[in-house]
Amino acid sequence: MEGRAEAATAPITGHCYCGAVAVRAMRAPEVVAWCHCDDCRRVTGAPAAAFAGFAEGHLSFEPDEGRAAPGAPGVRRSFCAECGSPLASRFDYLPGQVYVPLGILDQAGEMEPQLHSYDSRRLPWLHIEDNAERLETSSRKRLAGGSAGGEESGRMRR
Ligand SMILES: [Zn+2]
Ligand SMILES: [Zn+2]
Repeated sequence: MEGRAEAATAPITGHCYCGAVAVRAMRAPEVVAWCHCDDCRRVTGAPAAAFAGFAEGHLSFEPDEGRAAPGAPGVRRSFCAECGSPLASRFDYLPGQVYVPLGILDQAGEMEPQLHSYDSRRLPWLHIEDNAERLETSSRKRLAGGSAGGEESGRMRR
């Protein structure tokens, strides 16, 4: 792992708002990113969303992943069946990865996002001062790169 997100040491833990669902990851995330798109904003209810992308198989939910909600084609999102907290998002174009909202993770403070996806959709009054790479639209190529290589440009830019 050439780990951009390795500041967070596994296991990584978290839980939904009501505590009914716990999440646990045995490895640090492959990528951590903001997303400013409308969908992610609505899913989280926040002015911007930030997610940690884990390799499928290194992540587990107890007792289960809650309830799936209908969404955009090629996107699957799940929520706590009790309190509705977003738990996981999967995207057909990012196979093998599961995206968990940073806000439900106990170690979020150690997971600084490396990317801003859909920066063109960022709310005009939201100014996040960081050195993270900004992409006008989807960052799917960067995200899919994960720890397995992929595009080098823009990584670790700071
Ligand atoms: Zn809950
Ligand atoms: Zn988004």
